[in-house]
Amino acid sequence: MALHKIIMVDSGGVGKSALTLCFMYDEFVEEYEPTKADTQDGEEVQIYIIDTAGQEDYTAIKDNYFHCVFSITEMESFAATVDFKEVKEDENIPFLLIGNKSDLEDKRQVSIEEGKNRNVIYVETSPKTRANVDKVFFDSMREIRVR
Ligand code: GDP
Ligand code: MG
Repeated sequence: MALHKIIMVDSGGVGKSALTLCFMYDEFVEEYEPTKADTQDGEEVQIYIIDTAGQEDYTAIKDNYFHCVFSITEMESFAATVDFKEVKEDENIPFLLIGNKSDLEDKRQVSIEEGKNRNVIYVETSPKTRANVDKVFFDSMREIRVR
């Protein structure tokens, strides 16, 4: 069985975690926070858990696929994706540009045309409405398989 490794890149707050959780657990979590703050021995501590697939046989891992996520409601997050595209062209890494939060049409700052003009595959998603969530993950896995 092949393990497909999809790497989510983003500039924060664009919905990367929400997209992942929606795909994995069919849930939209409004206030997801990957760090947990607590007190231990009278001191404030923060814990951040990095989850891995626990796969030992790395020969079964297919090439990484980059999902570069920005929020259509935030022009700065779109501008920040330029650098990731350059990484892609250098190393020939499979790459998908994702405009997330497509449900927030009234707050849109990045047009569909701007997304498409980047000359990479562009898809708009929303874990809130489930729009294109399965599509972006399954399409990537399919593309990795046929390469
Ligand atoms: P990350 O920092 O990229 O992992 O972003 P999060 O997944 O933590 O999401 C940041 C905020 O945006 C959270 O409050 C989410 O509930 C919200 N959010 C994420 N995706 C969407 C979406 O598609 N639509 C709407 N309306 N809110 C979203
Ligand atoms: Mg996150």
